[in-house]
Amino acid sequence: MRIELKDIKAGELEQEYSCSLADFPDLQELAGVDDLKFYPPFEFKLRLQRSGKFIEVDGQLHAVVRLKCGRCLHHYRLPLAESFSFTFVPQPESCETEEEVELAAADLGLTCYQDDVLELQEPLQEQLLMAIPISPLCDVSCRGLCPECGVNLNVSSCECVKKPFNSKFNILADMNFKKT
Ligand SMILES: [Zn+2]
Ligand SMILES: [Zn+2]
Repeated sequence: MRIELKDIKAGELEQEYSCSLADFPDLQELAGVDDLKFYPPFEFKLRLQRSGKFIEVDGQLHAVVRLKCGRCLHHYRLPLAESFSFTFVPQPESCETEEEVELAAADLGLTCYQDDVLELQEPLQEQLLMAIPISPLCDVSCRGLCPECGVNLNVSSCECVKKPFNSKFNILADMNFKKT
């Protein structure tokens, strides 16, 4: 997952990658946390456009992950399909605060490269990480688990919540309507 600057002929290059989990150490570490699971390959389609020393990268990623719903705690598969773009800029030479420059560049959506070689592993991993939802929900309308009895309210119902509601309404009904 590295491209040499000289390979971007005529200022443009299209590139596809099919990556495994072994390509992305940070993802490997995440696997298993909160039951997160990855189903490689991770597919990337990239289009690189060079203008001078700057290289614009437009890409799409496709991946499938297994997540745990934050409401009903069930596992579900989520296909990820994201578009992204970032820009490679040359690492400033003879810079004493290299790390600071890199951090500042990252804030601007810039990725530094050195020695005319574009390293794609880091930025692609970052795109995958950003594509994973922070608060996963199996469905926006997931009803979750009953806090009383733990039943999954998506597939069945229980009386825990209904009872107090019903009795309240019953009392109201008794109060207001019996008189009329
Ligand atoms: Zn759910
Ligand atoms: Zn219940």
